[in-house]
Amino acid sequence: MGKPSKKKLCKLCKLKGLRKESVIYMKEHRLALCEEHFKEWFEKRVKETIKEFRMFKPNEKILVAVSGGKDSQTLWYVLNRLGYDADAFFIHLGIGDYSDESMEKVIELGKLLGKKPYIVKLEEDIGAGIPVLQNFVRGTACSVCGRIKRYQFNKIANDLGYNVVATGHNLDDESSSLLANLINWNLKYLARKYPVLPAEKGFPKKVKPLVKMTEEQIKLYAQLNNIPFTERSCPLGDTASLHFYKDVMNLIENHALGTKYRFYFEYLKKVYPIFSSLKEELIEGELQKCKICGQPSPSEICMVCRLKEKVKQQKEGS
Ligand code: SF4
Ligand code: ZN
Ligand code: ZN
Repeated sequence: MGKPSKKKLCKLCKLKGLRKESVIYMKEHRLALCEEHFKEWFEKRVKETIKEFRMFKPNEKILVAVSGGKDSQTLWYVLNRLGYDADAFFIHLGIGDYSDESMEKVIELGKLLGKKPYIVKLEEDIGAGIPVLQNFVRGTACSVCGRIKRYQFNKIANDLGYNVVATGHNLDDESSSLLANLINWNLKYLARKYPVLPAEKGFPKKVKPLVKMTEEQIKLYAQLNNIPFTERSCPLGDTASLHFYKDVMNLIENHALGTKYRFYFEYLKKVYPIFSSLKEELIEGELQKCKICGQPSPSEICMVCRLKEKVKQQKEGS
């Protein structure tokens, strides 16, 4: 993947006898495209991914998990552009300016699309944001945050009747996390590493329609379409290891073009079926319904209901 070169002309325009400068040169596809043809190429590729993995049908209601960043904002935009009925859900995590700015970008895009996003504020729903909640449980801010986000998305999808939840994971995310999980032989994770996870045990179907697109392509598509997004990263995130594996994948990609794609998609074809057949053995722990909120939970009372109780007790005690 490289920057547009002044000399590179759009390949598709050239076929029509036109000379138009490219906005991107995708080395792994040996393809230079102008703005118009890049947008078409991008949208066609997302549509093909949705069909290839049977993510959803044209008339299905989809809930996009938006964070205000480029990937999920682009996903919400492109699904609507392709004619799908896609709504968005945003969780205000109570992480200072980062959460405020992210929410603004989501609302801004909603106005452009003529859609109102669903918004839940943790400070209202649980009584506190992630910076406080992380003190009540073991593990990092990200682990508690990830569990709360999953809970909220499942709950809102169930409550509002959405059968499909879509996330903005891209090829860089998926190939680098595959590498990290292989290196650590995280079998539980590998058994669920697929762009579509069927609805099961009270959870909606989960899909990743941007799984063939790289970060660079998504960012450019967002910029060319004036999609609002925040470039801020969360101040609580421990992204060092994530960046490390992305850097490693980029190094390998520069050495052998197309590696990211091959690594991930060949895994899906050749290895995933083996791990997936062991899913039941690898993923321990039966889920039950939380006695308070009714959401799937490994224990009688789910983590979110326990957190609500702890926040309440703390407020009463202070
Ligand atoms: Fe949550 Fe961690 Fe992501 Fe911040 S970086 S939003 S704490 S998961
Ligand atoms: Zn062109
Ligand atoms: Zn609960």
